[in-house]
Amino acid sequence: MRDETTISSVKNVTTRINLKVRGEPKDQSTLLGIAPAGTRLIVLGERKKWFKVLFGNAIGWVFKEYVELTQKDENHKNIDKTDKIDKIDKISRIYKVFIDPGHGGKDPGAVGQKGTREKDLTLTLSKYLKEELEKLGSFAVKLSRDQDQYVDLKARGRAALHWGADIFISEHFNAAGNREAKGVEVFYSIDLPETKGKAKELSRVIAQVSRTNNRGAKVDKSSRYPGEDRITVLDITQDGGIPLVFLVENGFISNPPEEDRLRQDHVLREIAQVQAKTIYSWRETRPAAI
Ligand SMILES: [Zn+2]
Repeated sequence: MRDETTISSVKNVTTRINLKVRGEPKDQSTLLGIAPAGTRLIVLGERKKWFKVLFGNAIGWVFKEYVELTQKDENHKNIDKTDKIDKIDKISRIYKVFIDPGHGGKDPGAVGQKGTREKDLTLTLSKYLKEELEKLGSFAVKLSRDQDQYVDLKARGRAALHWGADIFISEHFNAAGNREAKGVEVFYSIDLPETKGKAKELSRVIAQVSRTNNRGAKVDKSSRYPGEDRITVLDITQDGGIPLVFLVENGFISNPPEEDRLRQDHVLREIAQVQAKTIYSWRETRPAAI
């Protein structure tokens, strides 16, 4: 197909909202990342409703409607200057990780044979993950709860959106009627199929460090609302534009040997370390770093 892109007279725009940058000028094309509100983008061309922009090291497309003109192309000096500002922003960018310890308060979540409560494990693990991310640097970290309290699912998602999170991660532990069931699985959003690889990676590294089964990456589709996630926190955070949203089931506390292992503090610490390392590696490769 012939490229209908035309050279644009607009050279520099600023995003008005947290804006999706896509691989092609189509609604459903690959999501390259999110340009946070206020991001300055260099325009390379245009096509109908879309601007072709430089996005980190990639070339992407954004909806014209959601950007405003920063300045007219007066001379090359201006463009060079903008370029330098973008590079500085890129180096000093702080990634916002919102961690959601599942359950809490009146909702204990799953309970193991020895009385291990999911809500306690998720809180400990989330606090460890916060510490490990902060050790690595370049991260701002927030928790949906930092004590044993009940927080509404929608409120958890809204808090992450309100804060402008780059990554949302909900921590859980699993249970099943079948006591043999064990292992790790990671849910990603049905609307973000391009994040499946990252969900797989997360599941694999956690299973490895926990020495249990890797059940892999999964989606949980809503039967009532086709095309939507059944998991409320993933549905809300994804709809709101957070580019990476995951729910991690870190093991089965209904499996007696797995429950014993997860009751050991060092095991939760190791899971937090491997999650932090993985999130750190995404930070370096993510094209949204503008
Ligand atoms: Zn849970």
